[in-house]
Amino acid sequence: MRDEKSVLMQSPFHWNGREGHTPRWIVLHSTSGGGAASWFQNPQAQVSTNYVIEKDGTIINCVDELDAAYGNGPLEPGHAAFWDTIGCNPNLVTISIEHSKAEGNQENLTEAQKAASFYLIQSLCKRWNIPLQAANEHGGIAPHSSLEPVNRKMCPGPYPWQELFALAHPPQQEEILVISLSNPQVANYFVQDGDMWKCKQTGKRVGHAFLDFYRVFGNSALCGLTYIGLPLSDEYKNEHGSIMQRYERMDLGYGSSGHKEDNPPGSGDVFILKKYEGSGIDPRIPQLQQKIDALTRQVNTKPDTQAQAELAKLRATLAHIHEESAA
Ligand SMILES: [Zn+2]
Repeated sequence: MRDEKSVLMQSPFHWNGREGHTPRWIVLHSTSGGGAASWFQNPQAQVSTNYVIEKDGTIINCVDELDAAYGNGPLEPGHAAFWDTIGCNPNLVTISIEHSKAEGNQENLTEAQKAASFYLIQSLCKRWNIPLQAANEHGGIAPHSSLEPVNRKMCPGPYPWQELFALAHPPQQEEILVISLSNPQVANYFVQDGDMWKCKQTGKRVGHAFLDFYRVFGNSALCGLTYIGLPLSDEYKNEHGSIMQRYERMDLGYGSSGHKEDNPPGSGDVFILKKYEGSGIDPRIPQLQQKIDALTRQVNTKPDTQAQAELAKLRATLAHIHEESAA
């Protein structure tokens, strides 16, 4: 068994099988001089590791993962205490990886080598259920120097340990709230219509990029329903060729060519064009909006057909004013 990205260059220096043991640790080495994989084939070598990673990122498999390599010598005084708990030859419970370095092991890994090393370690951890952590009695990744702190003090030498262990805890993605029609509050206002949402009150549709934007905008409460409001028009093309749509609380634009509209810095494909608040807007709009908001609250607390009809009328009037001012 070997990693699918590895090339094979088998070394005769290994024990067949692991005497019933399963690898629980990965031990990292550096070669202190090149040509490790071919050296492992030399009858005089009598040493091997399961893998060698070259400076160009090539991964060479020298000893099958199911077999124990001759990588780690007898424990030396000062070794890490957890190695005393294993009760067998460390090679039987470890997978060892060499990294090609110049004499002395002082240099850092190359970028390609680091990427290959991280890849291989993650792959081994997954396949063998080895924890991606600094080694302790439960398993993990250890430097050769933890077994032989006297003669192998500089093995593997510099290695990006912090970066390696950080892979086990990728930064948490901020949770993104996405509204859907399975939320009854949202379903009060919208019904699925093909791949779009049709507003039950205005009859207008929200779709495609606008819908993606609408479902997440604000990342709180009911997202677009709360902060953008109901659609007052379907999508339409403006004089610059941008796709626009009017909503109760703002206009949305899409695909502005050359940013002719008010496309704020850092905004994505969909952007906010105009907010219906403050000065410079039709004075009928905030008045109507106030009434609509009050009626909406009333209808939401106590459903009432008369109020609902009144609300629909007000919304239609508002839509009409918006269409007028858009023309
Ligand atoms: Zn070593």
